[in-house]
Amino acid sequence: VGVRLGAEVTSLDLDNNQVALASDETMAYDRLVIATGTEARQPDIPGQDLQGVFQLRNLDDAVRIRSFLEKNGGRRAVIIGAGFIALEMAEGFSLRDMAVTILYRGDLPVRPFGPVIGQQIKDHLAEKGVDFMSRTKPTAIEQTAGGLAVKTDQGVFEADVVLTALGVRPNTALAEAAGLELGAAGAIRVDEFGKTSRPGVYAVGDCATSRHRVSKLETWLPLGDVANRQGRVAGENAAAGDVRRFPGVVGAQCFKVFDLQVAKAGLDEAAAAQSGFEPMAVQIKGLSRAGSYPGAQPLWIEMCADKRSGKLLGARGVGAEGVVERINIVATALFAGLTVRDVGWLDLAYAPPFGGSWSQIQIAAQKLEGKLG
Ligand SMILES: Cc1cc2nc3c(=O)[nH]c(=O)nc-3n(C[C@H](O)[C@H](O)[C@H](O)COP(=O)(O)OP(=O)(O)OC[C@H]3O[C@@H](n4cnc5c(N)ncnc54)[C@H](O)[C@@H]3O)c2cc1C
Repeated sequence: VGVRLGAEVTSLDLDNNQVALASDETMAYDRLVIATGTEARQPDIPGQDLQGVFQLRNLDDAVRIRSFLEKNGGRRAVIIGAGFIALEMAEGFSLRDMAVTILYRGDLPVRPFGPVIGQQIKDHLAEKGVDFMSRTKPTAIEQTAGGLAVKTDQGVFEADVVLTALGVRPNTALAEAAGLELGAAGAIRVDEFGKTSRPGVYAVGDCATSRHRVSKLETWLPLGDVANRQGRVAGENAAAGDVRRFPGVVGAQCFKVFDLQVAKAGLDEAAAAQSGFEPMAVQIKGLSRAGSYPGAQPLWIEMCADKRSGKLLGARGVGAEGVVERINIVATALFAGLTVRDVGWLDLAYAPPFGGSWSQIQIAAQKLEGKLG
C-alpha cells in the first residue's frame, strides 16, 4: 500500500478512471474509495481569520490551539456553539485554568440529546464555573488591545482564544463536481457495499450516507466508529468484489463533559414519529450502583418504543458513571430489533458496584411494556 501524504485531489475523472492532484499529476485507478470527511460549518460573522480564533477539525488543529496557548498564555476562552466538541473543549480549556464562556443561539446544549440531558449538562457546566450563554448570537469577532472580543446581541465577551464549533457538513465537493449522487444531509449516497452511483467508486465515513437499522431510512452519522466499519467494508469490496455488506447504524454515540457521561442510541420521539412509528417514552431516574453500595450516583435514562409493535426505538442517558455501558445494551438491542418485552427481561451481568439487580434499561423497558395496548 502506497500512502501519499500531502497529496490534495482537485478533481475526479470518473469516465477515465483517474484523479487529478494539486501537484498537476494525475493518478489512474481501478477502484476509487472517497473518504473526504467533513468540513466545519463557519459562523457567518467577520473576524474568523484573526489570530487566536480556531476550529477543531483534527489533531493538527488541536496542536495549533495548544501551541497558541503555550506561547500566549491565554486565560479566557469563548466557545461559539454547544455540540459535543464545544463541551469537550470547555472542559479542556477549564483544565488549563481558563475562564470559559459558551455562546449558544438556542436554550440548552447538545440539542439532539433532548432537554432533560441538556438541562443536566447546563447545570453541571455552571457547577464547574463555565458560563453558558443561551440565546446569544455572535455578530463579529474583533481584535482589541487586550486580545479578542466576541460581539453578540447580548453584549461583548472578551477572550484570548475563540473556538467556533458549529458542527460539520459532508465534504462532497469532489464527488458533487464528478456527478455522484448525493443523499441524506447531502452526503454521498452509498449502498450496503459502500458503492456510489458510479461503478467502481466507493465512499465511506463522514462524507457518505448509511442506512439506519431502526428507521430503515438513509441517514448521515459523521462518527468515527461508523467511518471505521464503512472503511473496512468498502476496502474489502473494492479489493475483492462484493464480499461484505455494511449492516447499518443505530446512531450509538457518547461523550464526556467534566464528570458527566452522556450517551444515546436509536431514535427519540420526534425522529420516531417522523419515521412512521407511534412513539411512547418514559424517563427514569436511578443510581449507577446498587443503593446499598457506597458511591452510587444519580443516573437518568429516557427510553422510547413503538406502541404498535412494542419495538424498542431508542434511549439516551446521563450520569456520572455507568451510562455508556447501559446505552450500549440499548444499541445492541436496537441492532437486533428487540421489543421492550425482550429488553425488560434481558440477562445482564449484575454486581452491586455496577448497578442494581434490575438495570435501569430493564426497568425503563418494562415501564414501556406496561404502556402497550
Ligand atoms: C474534535 C473531534 C472529536 C471527535 N470525537 C469523536 C468521538 O468521540 N467518537 C466518534 O465516533 N467520533 C468522533 N469524532 C468524529 C470522527 O473524528 C470522524 O467521524 C472520523 O474522523 C471520520 O473519519 P473519515 O475518515 O470519514 O474522515 P476524516 O477523519 O475527516 O478524514 C478525511 C481526510 O480526507 C482528507 N481530504 C479531504 N479532502 C481531500 C482532498 N481533496 N484530497 C486529499 N485528501 C482530502 C482530509 O484532509 C482528511 O485527512 C470527532 C471529531 C472531532 C473533530
